[in-house]
Amino acid sequence: MQSHVSRVWNFSAGPAALPLAVLERAQREMLDWNGSGASVMEQSHRGKRFIEMAAQAEADLRSLLAIPADYTVLFLQGGATQHFAQIPMNLAGAGDSADYIVSGHWSAKAVSEAASYLRRVNVAASGEADHYLKLPARESWQLDPQAAYVHYTPNETIHGVEFHDIPDVGAVPLVADMSSNILSEPLDVSRFGLIYAGAQKNIGPSGLVVMIIRRDLLQRAGRPMARIFRYAEHAANDSMLNTPNTWGWYLAGLTFQWLQQQGGVAVIGERNRAKAELLYQVIDGSGGYYRSPVEPSARSRMNVPFTLHDAALDTTFLKESEAAGLIALKGHKAVGGMRASLYNAVSLEAVQVLTAFMQDFARRHG
Ligand SMILES: *Cc1c(COP(=O)(O)O)cnc(C)c1O
Repeated sequence: MQSHVSRVWNFSAGPAALPLAVLERAQREMLDWNGSGASVMEQSHRGKRFIEMAAQAEADLRSLLAIPADYTVLFLQGGATQHFAQIPMNLAGAGDSADYIVSGHWSAKAVSEAASYLRRVNVAASGEADHYLKLPARESWQLDPQAAYVHYTPNETIHGVEFHDIPDVGAVPLVADMSSNILSEPLDVSRFGLIYAGAQKNIGPSGLVVMIIRRDLLQRAGRPMARIFRYAEHAANDSMLNTPNTWGWYLAGLTFQWLQQQGGVAVIGERNRAKAELLYQVIDGSGGYYRSPVEPSARSRMNVPFTLHDAALDTTFLKESEAAGLIALKGHKAVGGMRASLYNAVSLEAVQVLTAFMQDFARRHG
């Protein structure tokens, strides 16, 4: 049982479950944050309390991911989707092209949003012909050594495919949309030019984007644009060029502290591996009752799409799982079937409850 009776086992793809301890702390601090007599949402981001909190959140993220000193951390707005457009604006001049690896829904969307801001989008590899059930083999990528950057999506949230290593792309800066796998395991940040993530999967509430960018990339002229779009301006103003998402930043900070209390990303990474292994084992061991469509080597630890042997049972499965307190298991409409998202805040116990339910369901509806 969950310690709080009214809390469900939440497998939402996003906005997703947050750690209970984070929510409880935010609840305790809601009316009187940090001795201020007001909530964190009701005070100036220029005040001493907020500035200290913001700096601590950045320091904690830096320590969690061992972010090297030559990288700037930004706390931005707009969601990952806005940055699909803003990244080419900042990193590419009007005459530049950039390479994109398309491995699912989100990387395809990144291509379409970038198209207006690049001379050419070079789709260097695509898994579309394989229905995004596996990753395009590295040997097949048609990379352009002159590209402004290479963009890829290490974890595809909808199709449930994940890169289990960082592709070598030579000297061209590697840009990664880590919205659904940031902080899920240790990461060698030095391999990347730019990492960005919408917060609502593994960090906090929606409306916040965390970006880690190598400082030399802030020097790129990009194209003419308003100050508000320029990452270098955000960096020069400590992500307070205008009023930031103060609530999101605060909750992100609480999540970073929670991650540290769990033992950091190495411990969380082991836990995530165990969670995913358990679910895939039950799927693979079900004698075809449940199926994972994704090639085993590309299976995501964070998002697990699966189907039932008979789609006519989908509605019953969803109805019964919800009645058992297991929510948000309906798959994305692009893929169908079910999807369980197993982000950091989803406990091993939650996955045990889910797999026990699945096995019981298979027995009852054999
Ligand atoms: C959820 C998600 C997005 C979209 O994020 P928004 O904040 O809605 O713009 C982009 N990329 C990935 C990998 C995602 O999981």
